[in-house]
Amino acid sequence: MVDTRLDVARKARRIYELLLAEYGQPAWRPSRSGFEQLIHTILSANTNDRNAARAFETLKQRFAGDWDAVRTAPLAEIKDAIRVAGMYNQKAPHIVGTLEILHREEGQYSLERVREMESETAQAYLQRFPGVGHKTASIVLLFNYGMAAFPVDTHIQRQSQRLGVSGRRASAQKSKAIWEAALPAATYFALHVNLIQHGRAVCQARVPKCAHCVLQNACDYAGRKGAWADNPPSHPEESHTS
Ligand code: SF4
Repeated sequence: MVDTRLDVARKARRIYELLLAEYGQPAWRPSRSGFEQLIHTILSANTNDRNAARAFETLKQRFAGDWDAVRTAPLAEIKDAIRVAGMYNQKAPHIVGTLEILHREEGQYSLERVREMESETAQAYLQRFPGVGHKTASIVLLFNYGMAAFPVDTHIQRQSQRLGVSGRRASAQKSKAIWEAALPAATYFALHVNLIQHGRAVCQARVPKCAHCVLQNACDYAGRKGAWADNPPSHPEESHTS
C-alpha cells in the first residue's frame, strides 16, 4: 500500500520523537559565520569533518584570515592549503569563484542578507555559488540562520529510503522535500543531527544493526513493508545507491 501524506507525516513525527528520546536535543552553537560555514561546507564534500576542519583552519592561517588574499592568490597555493580535504582541484576554484561573486556583488565576504529572504529564495541564492548544492545551502541556512531548510546527506538519504519516509530509490533532493513537508521547521535541527548520529552508529550503510535500533518498529526495511515488502535487498549495500 502506498503511504498517504498523512501517514508519512505521522511516521516522520514518530521517528523524530524516538530519536529525540534516544539522543536528546543537540546543542545549537554556530561556531562560524554563515560565510565561513559556506567555505567550510564546500571543503567538507566527500571527506570527514576532521579533514574539512583541518583544511579550513590551514586555509585561514596560510592567508592570515584575509579572504581578499585568498581570492587573488595563485590557485596552486589554495590547493596546497586545502589538500587534506581532497578534491582540491575542484574545491579551490569553487572557493575562489564564491569569493569572486561576493566581492563583486556584495563588496564584502558575508551572507548576512539571507536573513531578509524567505527560505526558498535563500536556497536559490546560495546555490548560485560554485560547488554549492541543496545540501550545502541547507546546512548554512539551518545551522547559521535557523531557517526552514532540512539538509539531506548520504546518512539521511539512506535512512529515509529504509524507513519508508521516501521511496526506496528517492534522490536526496526528493527526501529533503518530503521531510520538509512532513514536519515543522522547529524539528529540523535536532532531526538532522540525530539522524546523522544514528546513521553512523546504528543504521550503517553496509550492515544496519536493526536488532538494536530504536526505529525498528517504524522501519519498512526492518519490517519488510512498503517498497521493501516484495523485493527485500539482495545484499546489504543496495539501499545506499541513489
Ligand atoms: S531498523 Fe534497521 S534499517 Fe531501519 S532505521 Fe533501524 S538500523 Fe536502519
